[in-house]
Amino acid sequence: VKPENNCIVIFGASGDLTHRKLIPAFYHLFANGLLSEEFAILGVSRTHYSDAEFQQRLKESLTANEKVDPQVLDAFCQRLHYQAIDTKSVEDYATLKTRLDDIEQKYHTKGNTTFYLATPPSLYSVIPQCLAAHGLNSEENGWKRLIVEKPFGYDLATAEQLDKDLHAHFQEHQIYRIDHYLGKETVQNLLVFRFANTMFEPLWNRNFIDYVEITAAEFLGVEERGGYYDGAGAVRDMFQNHLLQVLAMVGMEPPAAINADSMRDEVMKVFQSLQPLSENDLNNNLVLGQYTESDVRGNHLKGYREEPGVAEDSRTETYVGLKMFIDNWRWNGVPFYVRTGKRLPTRVTEVVIHFKKTPHPVFGANAPENKLIIRIQPDEGILMSFGLKKPGAGFEAKEVSMDFHYESLEETHMLTAYERLLLDSMKGDATLFARTDAVKACWKFVQPILDYKENPEHLYGYAAGTWGPKEADELLSRDGREWRFPCKNLTNTDY
Ligand code: NAP
Repeated sequence: VKPENNCIVIFGASGDLTHRKLIPAFYHLFANGLLSEEFAILGVSRTHYSDAEFQQRLKESLTANEKVDPQVLDAFCQRLHYQAIDTKSVEDYATLKTRLDDIEQKYHTKGNTTFYLATPPSLYSVIPQCLAAHGLNSEENGWKRLIVEKPFGYDLATAEQLDKDLHAHFQEHQIYRIDHYLGKETVQNLLVFRFANTMFEPLWNRNFIDYVEITAAEFLGVEERGGYYDGAGAVRDMFQNHLLQVLAMVGMEPPAAINADSMRDEVMKVFQSLQPLSENDLNNNLVLGQYTESDVRGNHLKGYREEPGVAEDSRTETYVGLKMFIDNWRWNGVPFYVRTGKRLPTRVTEVVIHFKKTPHPVFGANAPENKLIIRIQPDEGILMSFGLKKPGAGFEAKEVSMDFHYESLEETHMLTAYERLLLDSMKGDATLFARTDAVKACWKFVQPILDYKENPEHLYGYAAGTWGPKEADELLSRDGREWRFPCKNLTNTDY
């Protein structure tokens, strides 16, 4: 079902996110016939462009970065419009309203409008207030939705404040908080894999699972985002949002139905069950790290403190590893080891479910354990490893694997995360968007780490291009376990 006719207003239309992610996503949705019959995009920021200049800029960046069909591109660009306003000035929104009225007439949008906040977060409270001052939040004439980009706050207190500010003018059903991890096919597949197969779900608990690893490794350093990153760090940038969302998908109970309320109720129950971090956890189960310069196979890699925009004496973490627990019936006593970092040897996000060993090791103590690896990026797929008999004399067991790669489903156009989420928001489906209570619960869980990292007793260095501080390995080796090193057969980005 296609969305109803509608208009998307992108605040921050001259910015990076709009160029790199949003407009390409809209283009591909358009090219694949997934958008409504009539739709328009209205870009808004302070820089002055005419409609034609805005269209030309985006045309150039789409042509340079995407595979485009020139005719489709022309048709797409005709629907792009632009309005310069001072985003902080409430009077300027009168001009915006007039533009929206014109668009409503021209494209028969019946007033259905999404406001996408792709601006600096300092404007996330200002823009909704200005929109409301001109009645642009009212659903009397068509639906009005607000898409908010991360970060949803800087800590628990600011997240609560942002929430109050948003709810002062928009109701929760109008607010769509984007966590692009939830738009990823493989993250959603976790649910289908778990709840559409009788094979795995009976084993998916403390009786059969020994421990769970969640890794989000980034190959790159901070690139041009040093200024932003230095004020944020890995805990805010990756852990509080993306990794906890993935953890919820691994840990949640089956929802009664796949809809926004049922799904998000179950996600919320996971967050409510996270074992709060104690003093002991902060001292012994948390590893914060920062990359230092190194030479890897002829590549000189800068240390974090040498990156542009980063303070010379920065204590910001670029790596976080944590051992944590979900305190509920299903997961009691099963450790979740979660790690993310920049400048690691490769780019990969994966979940590894380690099953318990067989109760009696008839084929020797070193018989392989069963593992399920859910690869979220880059080569999306699922890999199952188990023991089989090594050919030849005796009964020695050997680890073998079975794998499935999404790219084998070539006939299907895989929607990127932004395509999927934008389409869902236009259809009014909030299932894959973060709900207010979940966002707050995640901040609440993470707040002790934020307090600790203000003045961290330990911030360990790790050479750029390695798998993080050795203390992160010790986090597992203390428990007689080790991280999976997912380096083999990966992309050419490996060192
Ligand atoms: P950016 O390149 O700095 O763009 C910011 C945009 O906001 C520009 O279009 C800027 O245009 C506009 N703007 C409007 N009023 C402004 C004001 N008073 N001060 C400064 N800028 C103003 O930022 P971005 O990378 O696109 O990110 C936008 C938002 O998305 C941020 O909140 C970021 O955290 C989030 N985000 C970005 C990414 C990404 O990959 N880039 C990923 C996830 C989340 P004018 O100067 O013309 O007004």
